Amino acid sequence: MDAEIIAVGSELLTPFRQDTNSLFLTDKLNSLGIEVRFKTIVGDDSERLTQAFRVALGRSRLIILTGGLGPTEDDVNRQVVAEVLARPLREVPEIRQRIEERFTRLGRTMAENNLRQTLVPEGAEWLKNRQGTAPGLWIEQDGIVIIMLPGPPRELEGMFEAECLSRLARLVPAQCLRSRVYKAVGLAESEVDQRIAPIYKTYSNPSTTILATPGAIEVHLRARAASEAEADSLLTELGEKIEAALGDHLFTSRGESLEEVVGMCLVLRRKTLAVAESCTGGLLAERLTRVPGSSNYFLGGAVCYSNELKTRLAGVPQNLLEENGAVSKPVALALAEGIRRHTGASMGIGITGIAGPGGGSDEKPVGLVFIALADERGTQVREFRFPGDRERVRLWATQAALEMIRRRIRD
Ligand code: ATP
Repeated sequence: MDAEIIAVGSELLTPFRQDTNSLFLTDKLNSLGIEVRFKTIVGDDSERLTQAFRVALGRSRLIILTGGLGPTEDDVNRQVVAEVLARPLREVPEIRQRIEERFTRLGRTMAENNLRQTLVPEGAEWLKNRQGTAPGLWIEQDGIVIIMLPGPPRELEGMFEAECLSRLARLVPAQCLRSRVYKAVGLAESEVDQRIAPIYKTYSNPSTTILATPGAIEVHLRARAASEAEADSLLTELGEKIEAALGDHLFTSRGESLEEVVGMCLVLRRKTLAVAESCTGGLLAERLTRVPGSSNYFLGGAVCYSNELKTRLAGVPQNLLEENGAVSKPVALALAEGIRRHTGASMGIGITGIAGPGGGSDEKPVGLVFIALADERGTQVREFRFPGDRERVRLWATQAALEMIRRRIRD
């Protein structure tokens, strides 16, 4: 069974609101083995919705409409669906009673327009809304299932899980869907695709999706089979080939973030870490401490933006700053060694660079970042030139620092 989602709401066509409901629905539908083939966003307009709904009826066996079920004039879904399916709207006394009770319970008087929500196309089943007033609708016609859900995400999610999931599960053959997320650093999306496309293109199950995220390229595999074990073995077969093709650029096959992987490596090797950050302003420390349990290996660090604090907090010699400038290899090195010395951590990281947009020169352009790592084996320092705006430069710098830690621990 293939599905189609129609998200209704004029606000979803503005720059201010995104259709997130369809992401939730797609995830749940996929878990039942149902693929979403089309998504449409339509404003609160009867004519355009009629058009979109008719098109959907001609091509999809499951159509989910979201939003537009409320009490106001612009909530047109109920009316449009009733008209297209030629099912007159009828009032359902039980819905009226539930809405009235809800208003009484909340101590509010009910506006007359709420009664629009008591109307149900003939022959439709209505779905309880435990989080709000607008009931959902379930209609089956000519082998097509039409589900109508309220727009507010909390209401939609509650209703879909409580009222729709098990009904849908009965309509589709029992299937197990398993997924695996690989993540790689240090390769562009095109390089990842070049390496793995010849492999994954020979498989239709599992299906493969490549996603570029800031700082990592993700490879999502999804397998469907009659049992979990069967789906897992399909994933393993393709997964092992992908692992071989991506080599040590791959940092996880379980979807973890780089900071989580680094955390696990530090715990395993019983190492501790401290950081001295300039251009990243504490972002590396923030990322490291996102991971629960990071206090086991992350001692802390310093945000040393000014030269004075580089000297005071990380012991960077003043003459080194004067001779080389704050954004330089020797200063990154001194930051890493200094913070390691000051904190007693087994590993110290120093980051200094030019995040932009100002402050760059021909010699030291925006995006130039030096990252140093100091541990008992010595100090290594690397020079990077990151593209993009301030935020991207800062994020890439933390990603590169985490990757340096991962590789250092592994080597
Ligand atoms: P209500 O009874 O609240 O009027 P409704 O079914 O009429 O419910 P809408 O009026 O279309 O729903 O939307 C209600 C709220 O839900 C709005 O804040 C809207 O931005 C949000 N919303 C609607 N559709 C989506 C969507 N697809 N993704 C995320 N949020 C949405």
